[in-house]
Amino acid sequence: MAKIVVLGAGISGNTAAMYSKALAHKNDEVIVISPNSKWNWIPSNIWVGVGLMTGKQVTFELAPICKKKGITFHQAKAISLNPEGSAEDSQPFVTIEYTSSAKKGEVEKIHYDYLINATGPKLNFDATEGLGPEKNSHSVCTYGHAEDASRYLTESIERMKKGEKQNILIGTGHGMCTCQGAAFEYIFNVEYMLRKHKVRDKANLTWISNEYELGDFGMGGMHIKRGGYVTHSKVFTESLYAERGINWIKRAHVKSVDKDKTNFETLEGEAKTFDHDFAMLLPPFTGVPIKAFDKSNKDITNVLFAANGMMKVDADYTQKPYEEWKASDWPSNYQSPFYSNVFAVGIAFAPPHPISKPMFSPNGTPIYPTPPRTGMPSGVMGREVAYSIRDMIRGAEKPTHSASMAKMGAACIASAGSGIFDGTAASMTLYPIVPDFEEFKEYGRDIDMTFGEIGLAGHWIKYILHHVFLYKAKGNPFWRLIPE
Ligand SMILES: Cc1cc2nc3c(=O)[nH]c(=O)nc-3n(C[C@H](O)[C@H](O)[C@H](O)COP(=O)(O)OP(=O)(O)OC[C@H]3O[C@@H](n4cnc5c(N)ncnc54)[C@H](O)[C@@H]3O)c2cc1C
Repeated sequence: MAKIVVLGAGISGNTAAMYSKALAHKNDEVIVISPNSKWNWIPSNIWVGVGLMTGKQVTFELAPICKKKGITFHQAKAISLNPEGSAEDSQPFVTIEYTSSAKKGEVEKIHYDYLINATGPKLNFDATEGLGPEKNSHSVCTYGHAEDASRYLTESIERMKKGEKQNILIGTGHGMCTCQGAAFEYIFNVEYMLRKHKVRDKANLTWISNEYELGDFGMGGMHIKRGGYVTHSKVFTESLYAERGINWIKRAHVKSVDKDKTNFETLEGEAKTFDHDFAMLLPPFTGVPIKAFDKSNKDITNVLFAANGMMKVDADYTQKPYEEWKASDWPSNYQSPFYSNVFAVGIAFAPPHPISKPMFSPNGTPIYPTPPRTGMPSGVMGREVAYSIRDMIRGAEKPTHSASMAKMGAACIASAGSGIFDGTAASMTLYPIVPDFEEFKEYGRDIDMTFGEIGLAGHWIKYILHHVFLYKAKGNPFWRLIPE
């Protein structure tokens, strides 16, 4: 009998757990540990943030679903990891602290044969003074944040209806943010709502980002095929912003957020300020803080995890100049190089290097996007790791399945307004996610498989996917037929 413990029940963790259970021998046990009682389809938080959906529509309770699937669920957070066990306990274990009201604060050791770390990001609002929903800006990273953002946006719209002008700022709240795509979707959905409420002329809508050029998205931008010609995502994105009258500030590191002011530094080193009435600024991500100890109780956190708190896996983490990194540096099977029964998937694994070129202001402030880890690759990693573990339980010496982001394509559908007849979404496919300039010398990607288009059909697909992925995440009949 093998015990597979999955830390996290987001896109990658839930996928890993469901596949692990589906592939397991009947005596194997799958345990999921997650501090939230609910699963959240995070991509639809954008619609919660503009009041088009409720938190309830983008979540479901995990405990009954796990029970139905025969998965043990603990509502708790992992606080430390002992991959060698301890002096008194020879089996590897993870220490968890319960967050459920019934057992809040209780600490327990959970033993494992295989561990999948799928803890996602820590939303690091503290990196920027005044940033975040508890301080002076809003977020759509969780459904709770998105519900709050929607309330404040509604108030702002009400003021516009009374004739007041409003300055709305949306984008990234730090020079080292990722997830520009989510902020992009939010600003376009806000723009759509302002038009719906007939107050568009009352809003100065401005985008702020750490990207060197619009359309970088942490992937160093991309060349896309569109209407028979090849264009750069910068042109595609700038024309979308221009068409909707959205101003933009790029190459910006937000230094602090006051109640009605955002203070930022530009790549040229200038200190600037933007007066805002409403600001939705995404935080930078780090890994979720989990300590690690060896058998003698020595702290090995810095061995297992990179400086950003994300877990090291089978990537090449050698420090090298930006120009020298290769697609093959990216991980393939997500196994820890130190403990063969430990894996990290989704946002929890440490990327080996940035994809967008690192840029620094004259003051030495880094201002560039960190690599994105979107839902589709996160789910695929969870699935492939589950297959590898199944094979390792059956005797394979090493992981049998791989899911390198340098060999994987992705489809992204970015909502730009949600309406059955007048909604739009920018649909993009790219291959591979991490550019490979050895194989695709000109653009780093296969130009025949990298395209972008905007239209109503994209919105319908995005809306259908919302329902399809909730269906799949609940493990309803034939869930495995739905791709990640
Ligand atoms: C607003 C927004 C919109 C997005 N839109 C899209 C989109 O349209 N398409 C797309 O592909 N991607 C999108 N993304 C990105 C996508 O949501 C992520 O790629 C995906 O959620 C990553 O999955 P994950 O499993 O790594 O992390 P998550 O989904 O964040 O899951 C992490 C899990 O770990 C749990 N956890 C946290 N701490 C601990 C701990 N100490 N112990 C145990 N468990 C812990 C959390 O509670 C959670 O269950 C969006 C992101 C945001 C923020």
